[in-house]
Amino acid sequence: MCYIRTVYADLHAHTTYSDGVLSPTELVRLAARSGLKVLALTDHDTVEGVPEAQQAGRDLGVRVVPGIEISASFGKSIHVLGLFVDIGAPWLEAHRRTWKEYRSKRIDRICERLASVGVQLDPDAIRAASGEGSVGRPHVARALREAGFVESLDEAFARYLGDGQPGYVAANYTSVEEAIDGIRQSGGVAVLAHPGFYNLDDRLQTWVDAGLDGIECVHPAHRPAVQKRYRDLCSRLGVLPSGGTDYHGDAKRRGHLPGAFGLNEAEFAALEARVTKGQQ
Ligand code: AMP
Ligand code: ZN
Ligand code: FE
Ligand code: FE
Repeated sequence: MCYIRTVYADLHAHTTYSDGVLSPTELVRLAARSGLKVLALTDHDTVEGVPEAQQAGRDLGVRVVPGIEISASFGKSIHVLGLFVDIGAPWLEAHRRTWKEYRSKRIDRICERLASVGVQLDPDAIRAASGEGSVGRPHVARALREAGFVESLDEAFARYLGDGQPGYVAANYTSVEEAIDGIRQSGGVAVLAHPGFYNLDDRLQTWVDAGLDGIECVHPAHRPAVQKRYRDLCSRLGVLPSGGTDYHGDAKRRGHLPGAFGLNEAEFAALEARVTKGQQ
């Protein structure tokens, strides 16, 4: 089987409203230049960047799908993408408020833990540098690099911020089931992001029973064999494949441009059709 496809829709991308480095307008401009027809904005725990992206999309001829990447947990951090959400939905606003506070306090805890191994960072400066949206580990990673503790963001995660490292603070708050339910309440389809990171394939059936609509089969971290495994699982479980670049816009791991990974037109149409089906 051949996995070279024409990318029509990139359904996973971040902006300055979370931990990406491009503004929504800059991101959509890049997507337009890459020839993408559809781009989903999926910032961590916020939809604040969507209106600006949609305006840029109208100007530049790119369809912008309103999306979000919900931080959930099941022993470890699990991300659930909400695509085609109604950005005014009350559940999304409640989630954003809870997580904004939670993420902000988490930066203090990460800095305290780092201080205990001799790494002094100023949490207020990290929050200030992160701007208005969701603050997270990539902002700490950038501060570690700027202060000269590491040379790259990858090294920051490997030595300080990744699971099991001295600065690791899990983001345990929302369950996967709550995330799925909240996304569907908000009019969207719920897609399990980058399952290749989790080693939890035996939980997929449970999450499908809880309303999961799709699995992100296509992702830069998924080798072709992994992508195929998840496509087969989608068929078996009766859910749909999704895909995207998880673009963050800096030279951290997987620095692919928007459109390097994603869905073809028919796959995108199938996912979109699920929105109306879910609302019946
Ligand atoms: P947070 O939501 O604060 O837990 O941060 C999650 C973000 O960190 C995700 O967007 C990932 O892309 C990024 N991330 C996780 N692990 C790594 C890593 N090893 N190297 C670079 N970025 C990472
Ligand atoms: Zn991120
Ligand atoms: Fe993610
Ligand atoms: Fe992401």
